[in-house]
Amino acid sequence: VSQPNVQELDASKLTYNFTQSPRELPPLGVTAENGNSICTDHMVIAKWSAKNGWAAPELKPYGPLSLMPTASVLHYATECFEGLKAYRGYDGKLRIFRPDRNCERMLMSSVRISLPSFPPGELEKMIIALMSVDGPKWLPRDRPGTFIYLRPTMIGTQSQLGVQAPSEAMLYIIASLMPPMDSPAGGMKLHTSPDDMVRAWVGGFGYAKVGANYGPSLLATKEARARGFHQILWLYGKNGECTEAGASNFFVVWKTREGKTQIVTAPLDDRLILAGVTRNSVLALARERLSEEVEVVERKYTIDEVLEASAEGRLVESFASGTAYFVCPISLIHHRGSDIQIPAGKGGEGGSITLSLKKWLIDIKYGREEHPWGIVV
Ligand code: PMP
Repeated sequence: VSQPNVQELDASKLTYNFTQSPRELPPLGVTAENGNSICTDHMVIAKWSAKNGWAAPELKPYGPLSLMPTASVLHYATECFEGLKAYRGYDGKLRIFRPDRNCERMLMSSVRISLPSFPPGELEKMIIALMSVDGPKWLPRDRPGTFIYLRPTMIGTQSQLGVQAPSEAMLYIIASLMPPMDSPAGGMKLHTSPDDMVRAWVGGFGYAKVGANYGPSLLATKEARARGFHQILWLYGKNGECTEAGASNFFVVWKTREGKTQIVTAPLDDRLILAGVTRNSVLALARERLSEEVEVVERKYTIDEVLEASAEGRLVESFASGTAYFVCPISLIHHRGSDIQIPAGKGGEGGSITLSLKKWLIDIKYGREEHPWGIVV
């Protein structure tokens, strides 16, 4: 931002307008009302215009937004978002897991769709400010082991039709209750993507967390669910490279023909997949704590390699990683009429590598292990 009159996003200018009608905290386990998410009492909003830059952000009562029907986001999908959680630890502290990563990713997504840039550290401060206000009530100390889902969002609000970068935008942060995402009983069952559908492509925007990546994925997911599967395993290209599982990153653990155990996941360099914060954390933990037994590999690999490993008895485990489920064991992949059965421990609860990684992450998130990734609010 070179012009002196164009303001940078500045969390220290946050104003506070507290609600006059706070909601009652729902009983544990109630997270929605008539099919609507229950959000906390407040939200944080910051408005931007090309002319003036960022106005002072405001913390205000949670409630509807007002947009003109011509708003850019409603026509040209100028929208990006983030998903992260705040956790009430078993030690009584409130933590957010690696929010710096989500804020940097939000900036990357925002720039990809011509929404304004901002210093990611200011977004992080605004997230922490919202949790400082709503966290104590919505994640009470007598509910250790609970979480709240934070959804920073940015939309193009300029209300002039015409395909162009919006000259006005709004950034907002809401905090919502969500049902605990336990791994499905018996493990997650995946269906490979239909041959005529891809989620992302080289040169596309699959690496950005923009709403435009999600709407078009719903059709395949709906059909797979109707047939008893939980998520789509998105394949790419004529060789069927494994990319992501639903809105999570995808991992397999196999033995090479030489007998070496590897944790394998798709690489980031083709920009086909979202750089999951959980993916990054899993890779770091595996490299740090499992390197004696396991080699950690980020490379392209195909569904045929998974089929071969299965046929040769070399498939050890598989799991999906994401903020929603943390680490979720996968017990079956259905591909073109055949089922790949994957060892997933007792009752599909996960093999030993999956379970170790899951436990380490949960321990850090809920403060059983003090770790620099857990940012105390
Ligand atoms: N891939 C996609 C497409 C996603 O939407 C998500 C959820 N944000 C992930 C992977 C997992 O990312 P994270 O670990 O940051 O939640």
